[in-house]
Amino acid sequence: MSVSGKVALITGSASGIGLELAKEFAAAGAKVVIADLMLPAAEAAAATLVQSGAEALAVAMDVASEAAVEAGVAAAVARFGRIDVLVSNAGIQTISPIVDFKFDDWKRLLAIHLDGAFLTTRACMRQMVNTGGGTILYMGSVHSHEASPLKSAYVTAKHGLLGLARVVAKEGAAHGIRANIICPGFVRTPLVDKQIPEQAKALGISEADVIKNVMLKETVDGEFTTVADVAQTALFLAGFESAALTGQSITVSHGWHMGG
Ligand code: NAD
Repeated sequence: MSVSGKVALITGSASGIGLELAKEFAAAGAKVVIADLMLPAAEAAAATLVQSGAEALAVAMDVASEAAVEAGVAAAVARFGRIDVLVSNAGIQTISPIVDFKFDDWKRLLAIHLDGAFLTTRACMRQMVNTGGGTILYMGSVHSHEASPLKSAYVTAKHGLLGLARVVAKEGAAHGIRANIICPGFVRTPLVDKQIPEQAKALGISEADVIKNVMLKETVDGEFTTVADVAQTALFLAGFESAALTGQSITVSHGWHMGG
């Protein structure tokens, strides 16, 4: 079970979890498409992978734009001929009580997480149907299963991805396409580093208390999940060879959430 020789398109892979996935998929022999809003950072990441002997391509992509997704997937197919793995990973976080939540911020977050997952799924599924199958992974969150205050749009979006993964598993089966969702706990990436002071301010507590008593309180050992933990889970799911493992949610969170 391996992703060696497979073409993997990973959205939001110029930073954080997606960047580690790109590195570990490339190290496992996959050809990696780094699709990100930040083209210079995506190009830098692709150049590093190419220097290490891998095949990699950077494409500019706002996952919330139908035209940008279609163009980015077409560029990937023009280069590598197919898409075997899609990791729908691009995401943002907005911290705000509902009563102060700006409607534009709500719509932008849902567009990136949900429109982005739909548009990249549709474009890549069309390729996979033509080439005989593939696998799609969604970057969910413990917030696909649990709720936290101040994160209404994020929790709504991450719950929504569970439903999409399950529908893709059902529709994709006839075409050899599997779909699963990975649900990490807190991982120290720019997305999390940005929200620590934001949560401290909103909750009126110290940043240390945000880490200890908000982010890691329910874990079994007070530890952050790492980008490597998530990448190893993605490699396992992407390389799995039968539809025994489809439509599933796997939580990687030091036991913060148990049961799916
Ligand atoms: P990050 O901020 O380090 O990286 C996110 C990447 O997505 C960036 O490269 C950014 O440029 C890109 N991006 C943002 N908007 C985009 C758009 N419209 N189109 C294309 N790319 C876009 O964040 P991260 O922590 O690595 O998060 C990656 C995913 O993992 C997100 O879906 C996030 O919700 C999820 N997640 C993160 C954590 C965590 O604790 N860090 C936990 C659970 C789930």
